[in-house]
Amino acid sequence: MEKRTLGKTGLKVSVIGFGGIPIQKLPMRETRKLIKEAIDRGINFFDTAQGYGDSETKIGEGTKEKRDKCIIATKSPCRTEKEVLSHVNKALKRLKTDYIDLYQIHHVSKPFELKKVLSPRGALEGLLKLKKAGKIRHIGVTGHNPSVLQEAIEKSEEFETVQFPFNIVEDEEDKFSLLRIAKKFNVGTIIMKPLAGGVIPEPSLSLRWILQQGVDTVIPGMVLLSEVRENAKIGEKVYPLSFEELSHLKNSVSKLETQFCRRCMYCMPCPEGIPIYLIQELGDKVRVNVEQVKKMCKETYAKLKKNVEDCIDCGECEKKCPYNLPVRKMLREKHKLLTSAP
Ligand code: SF4
Ligand code: SF4
Repeated sequence: MEKRTLGKTGLKVSVIGFGGIPIQKLPMRETRKLIKEAIDRGINFFDTAQGYGDSETKIGEGTKEKRDKCIIATKSPCRTEKEVLSHVNKALKRLKTDYIDLYQIHHVSKPFELKKVLSPRGALEGLLKLKKAGKIRHIGVTGHNPSVLQEAIEKSEEFETVQFPFNIVEDEEDKFSLLRIAKKFNVGTIIMKPLAGGVIPEPSLSLRWILQQGVDTVIPGMVLLSEVRENAKIGEKVYPLSFEELSHLKNSVSKLETQFCRRCMYCMPCPEGIPIYLIQELGDKVRVNVEQVKKMCKETYAKLKKNVEDCIDCGECEKKCPYNLPVRKMLREKHKLLTSAP
């Protein structure tokens, strides 16, 4: 497996990492097998989060025998020093480890959130103390808004990594700009949602396209042993797409351009409090042909306080969507999928 240096952390990470979202609904026994397979195939970077159900516990269980061979990254939506201390202690317990290789401040997508994180007694100050105490080794930031992430790494040299969604469909110029800035400041780049939540029909080509943009690691979510094997194979020898492969990939996603929600949240807030971007994401994921993932999406949707049934058809979301998506129609279709019988 090819390894790349994760920016100024100096960590040598496998180009294919392990995204920890979908394992939430796998039984522990299957997760252990999956993680073992990943480690055996050379994957050494495992990304999880406090908010991914029991994912931290499962990653801890799956990696505990080979802890020294694994680089564990986790994250939480901590904004203050006080939150950081309790979140990191909780993560250490769940992960069954004495240290976390990379702790990321999760989902910093609005300027006021960044301000809070960087302020005195903010999350960054707390993480620096924990770093000094040896509980965490490196600090990163994640989010969906490239300009806020860019500001974060320009404002504080303490951020050693940045994690954001990037793929052939979500390839806006501000993401390339973030990549350039990250390289300039020697900040490691971790790519989430490399298959756009499972909607890109050519996973191998998509992963190769991202890796050829010079990112350090991509972290597809995996629940099947076959997915681990296929993805790991791509990382054995990374080579750029040929002209034909690139055209094929572009053709395969051309329809998505006008049908795919980029989760940019520009349509928010909805006057009725409907979490539009989340429903869009769940509605994409529920199409993935894996029973556990379908179940997880449906359960999450069922728990929402507001859903598509609360829509008053005002059309505000469509006026604000920069991609001119037929948001209402999409939401109705996704509601159907998310409420259909198993
Ligand atoms: S059309 Fe529905 S989903 Fe869109 S903003 Fe109005 S109430 Fe919210
Ligand atoms: S519906 Fe449009 S504005 Fe809303 S999150 Fe998706 S892409 Fe962004």
